[in-house]
Amino acid sequence: MRAAVLHEIGQDKLEVLDDVEAVGFGPGRVRIRVRATGLCHSDLSAMSGVLPQPGPFVPGHEGAGEVVEVGEGVRNLKAGDRVVVCWLPACGACPACKRGQTELCLAGFMNAGTPNFKRPAGDVFGFAGTGTFTEEVVVDAGCAVPIPDDVPFDIAALIGCGVTTGLGAALNTADVEAGSSVAVIGCGGVGISAIQGARLKGAAEIVAVDPVASRRESALEFGATRAVSPDELAGAKQEVTAGEGFDYVFEVVGKSATARTAYENTRRGGTLVIVGAGAMDDFLQLNMFELFFDEKRILPSMYGGGDVLRSYERTIALWRAGRIDLAGLITHRVPLADINEALDQMRSGTALRTCIEI
Ligand SMILES: [Zn+2]
Ligand SMILES: [Zn+2]
Repeated sequence: MRAAVLHEIGQDKLEVLDDVEAVGFGPGRVRIRVRATGLCHSDLSAMSGVLPQPGPFVPGHEGAGEVVEVGEGVRNLKAGDRVVVCWLPACGACPACKRGQTELCLAGFMNAGTPNFKRPAGDVFGFAGTGTFTEEVVVDAGCAVPIPDDVPFDIAALIGCGVTTGLGAALNTADVEAGSSVAVIGCGGVGISAIQGARLKGAAEIVAVDPVASRRESALEFGATRAVSPDELAGAKQEVTAGEGFDYVFEVVGKSATARTAYENTRRGGTLVIVGAGAMDDFLQLNMFELFFDEKRILPSMYGGGDVLRSYERTIALWRAGRIDLAGLITHRVPLADINEALDQMRSGTALRTCIEI
């Protein structure tokens, strides 16, 4: 079958091959025919080595499709079911799951060292234990989350990562207070989802910050009240907050430099939410005086910072009621054969989300 493979970490292009096989089917496992997958920035970060990932590998972790077959012992799924691929499945039994913080369950990472695919040339891993730039993938049953029939595959794919991450950061982690001032630094698919979350919570002002003009325009359509380039942020802070700083700042880039900017633009006693996925060797510097004296709350948000399945359900309910726009996040569509175009669109900042149709 066909899949897009990165041969070596650090390369910037994928090769679409037709000699790839999805492996690992058996008890407790599910074979999925992938129908749509989004390109998330984390895929690029894994390709470049910013996020740890063994290679060669099939990127993609934001996907949706149909169940082809289920292994022994899988009771909640059957062939033909529509599912979202969840790269962070909940085991249901660990301390994090029992507390309802399923986004912190580590069960999904236990398979990270096991290849999901193979080629005549050898083993191939799947990104984050999934790998959705492929016709078929085999995952644990917990990674296949059933969705209602009225949710199209392209919309469902977005829920698998970007929308859950951004929306959850505003709804779960920050729990934005009505009437507050918000800045969102980094306005790709995740940042736009954070903007939609802040709007849902009744933020008075939402300032979108991004160097790319088309993203700033999109941010205004999705609920930002202003959109500025990074060098205009100081002026916006002055105008919106009289220089005090924002009640909430969301860092959706994953770099220490933007996190530092976000910290400085958060008001004293305000909340900085770290959403971007960054590197292990990139350190955020804070001095011990400002840390205690300014009493800014720093809240990291992993995959929406709340119960994952509950987040999916809530997103579907909000989408169905027309309270959030998910279709509008898909700015580009390409077939799997043109996957490298999708990478270029993401790198240049022209795409909020590219849907790869398989
Ligand atoms: Zn668990
Ligand atoms: Zn992602």
